[in-house]
Amino acid sequence: MRQEFTIGRDYKGTIMIDDTHRAVSREHAKIIIEDNDTWILQDAGSSNGTFVQQPDGTLRRVTTAQIRPTTKIQLGPPDVNGFCFPASLVLGPNVGYEYAWRELREKLEVIKADKKSFIRKAKIWGWAQKGSAAVGCVVGICLQGVFDDSMSPNAILNLNRALMVAPGLLIAGAAAMFMPDGESIKERRAKLRCPNPNCRRVLSDDEISYGMCQLCKCRPQ
Ligand SMILES: [Zn+2]
Repeated sequence: MRQEFTIGRDYKGTIMIDDTHRAVSREHAKIIIEDNDTWILQDAGSSNGTFVQQPDGTLRRVTTAQIRPTTKIQLGPPDVNGFCFPASLVLGPNVGYEYAWRELREKLEVIKADKKSFIRKAKIWGWAQKGSAAVGCVVGICLQGVFDDSMSPNAILNLNRALMVAPGLLIAGAAAMFMPDGESIKERRAKLRCPNPNCRRVLSDDEISYGMCQLCKCRPQ
């Protein structure tokens, strides 16, 4: 059955957007769910625009777009005057939050796996650096005799020092370039927030696994 939802400020729909979100028009956007479960988002001639959040977090302004139930929609600007919500919320808090919590659990699992592999790789790199520094020392000591006759003692000392640290420094530099990005794991984790648009608190692992926000008690039904 085709379903059509109008979303707006103080509009009597399934999403309550209160008067504080002043950049949201009274009839701001429509979400249409076709018989084949295709989701369409339409701007309903709003004053401040309808935006779809991209995977990298940026917003793309749309007039009509095909979306998914988990797509984040931004009505008006991304500040207190605008309003952000997952598309599935039009189906009512019960069904909508079901989608949102499932997505949270899936994302948490991916982040946990990435974190594990990051720690494993960081350990391997650590050992590689120590190993190469040790090899550098041995090479330096072995080469010590080669230059004895032709060079001043100071020059030999400096050369030895260089031979001991150079391979270690090279490997450290390579490690810094190829290490997986630990920061992006942190950033992705900080985006796992409560699905309730009026709460949006960053959730703990336990809250996501158990499926309830301790602050606003939002949970899937
Ligand atoms: Zn909450």
